[in-house]
Amino acid sequence: MARKFSFYNTLSRTVEEFIPNEEGKVSMYTCGPTVYHFAHIGNIRTYIMQDTLIKALEYCGYDVKRVMNITDVGHLSSDADTGEDKMLEGAKREHKTIMEIADFYAKAFFKDFDSVGNKRPDVIEPATNCIPEFIHMVETLLDKGYAYVAGGNVYFDTSKLEEYYVFSSAIEKEQLQIGVRDDVEEDLAKRNKTDFVLWFTKSKFEDQALKWDSPWGVGYPGWHIECSCISIKHLGEYVDIHCGGVDNIFPHHTNEIAQSESYLGHRWCKYWFHSNHLNDRSGKMSKSKGAVLTVSVLQEKGYDPLVYRFFCLQSHYRKPLEFSYEVLDNTVTAYNNLVKKVESLINSDETIKAAAENRDSFLEAIRNRSDIDAGVKKEFEDKFADAISNDLNTSMAITLLYDILKADTNAATKLAVVDSFDKVLSLDLIGHALLDDSADIDPELEAFIKEAIEQRAAAKKAKDFAKADAIRDELLAKGVEIKDTREGVKWNLI
Ligand code: AMP
Ligand code: ZN
Repeated sequence: MARKFSFYNTLSRTVEEFIPNEEGKVSMYTCGPTVYHFAHIGNIRTYIMQDTLIKALEYCGYDVKRVMNITDVGHLSSDADTGEDKMLEGAKREHKTIMEIADFYAKAFFKDFDSVGNKRPDVIEPATNCIPEFIHMVETLLDKGYAYVAGGNVYFDTSKLEEYYVFSSAIEKEQLQIGVRDDVEEDLAKRNKTDFVLWFTKSKFEDQALKWDSPWGVGYPGWHIECSCISIKHLGEYVDIHCGGVDNIFPHHTNEIAQSESYLGHRWCKYWFHSNHLNDRSGKMSKSKGAVLTVSVLQEKGYDPLVYRFFCLQSHYRKPLEFSYEVLDNTVTAYNNLVKKVESLINSDETIKAAAENRDSFLEAIRNRSDIDAGVKKEFEDKFADAISNDLNTSMAITLLYDILKADTNAATKLAVVDSFDKVLSLDLIGHALLDDSADIDPELEAFIKEAIEQRAAAKKAKDFAKADAIRDELLAKGVEIKDTREGVKWNLI
């Protein structure tokens, strides 16, 4: 049975117990990238937190199917149907075709997406693959009276809804209404200020490159329709969790709900998971600001992408996070220290060390060791599951990682727990420790430790306990902790 799992649902504005439509199974939809430019490290923060949510659900016994779109048409430079198609903007900027732009930036996106340890969604669908589905949904909305044609475009009629601002409190609604009223680029064809475009045939820019035939003339879809259609196409009429960054709440997700529920005639998605933004000192990071800081750029500067993941996991997904190189440098130190600790665990036990040939066979070996203390392992795994199932408390999960490394148990148990936590954290500390193995431990220090341990054993044998203690203290002063265990003397770097 899957474990009780809670997270903040933007729809109910509370941390809620998650109850999927089908027991133990989770259908999840993620708004994908708009591939007109590189995905910056802020975008990647959003995908890291979603990846962690999926892995946390899996850790707690759920079976997750995840679908993601790729926005390669229809997302205008303002989220509110004004401005130019972002894809066209990218094509003009680089003197390429839209498909060349989409292909190039989608590849760049997945390179960074993968490098931070994310698992690929089960289905990835570009919007331009689904034009017939979009047309079908728009036709149905027209038939049901939720949409109208005006000035050549098809609009969703928000006045037909009992409630449009589903995510917002009364005060937020008022602010949003003021915001919409103040919209300078008013579209006079709209019946209501909050109406949005389902299908464009006429827009302010005539050079839209991607166009398709439709019952309303040659044109292209609005941005929101793609997520409704792609979700319903692959996950059916009910979806458990829909994810995005907080900027997606309005208008994108608000409009997705409006059109999906009007189309389906029933409630569509129960849980909405939104992660907060990454900011830099000048404010929110955005692709339109010019120079884009990507994970690949960080990598070129010598930062391991998994250090960036570690940086993100240390703070809660619902809080804004400020990026700076100072903090990232501190994260590098913290990450390297963790790797060193794991490395010294591996080196502290000859039989573990002997298995350290390659990552996969090593992981296999440490999962199956007979000296793992099952009680300690379970205790830590339970605490870890409690942390991640409690509104994805990743900083607590990391505290537990430090705790197990300090715990009073053998190296096999510690490594087995680190490996278990990594199913969610994906920091690959063990893989890095194996790569670093012996390279990072100064051979002189290693030889010194071995020699000191032998001398201490000889002193003890000669009942010279003062000398034995002095050797232990000398090692401690060099940052080496030794322990007498049933399997012999073990050491690790502290
Ligand atoms: P886009 O490619 O602009 O459609 O954005 C891809 C994802 O990144 C969306 O889910 C956005 O909500 C999210 N996002 C955009 N800006 C940021 C940011 N500064 N920090 C974190 N996530 C962001
Ligand atoms: Zn979307």
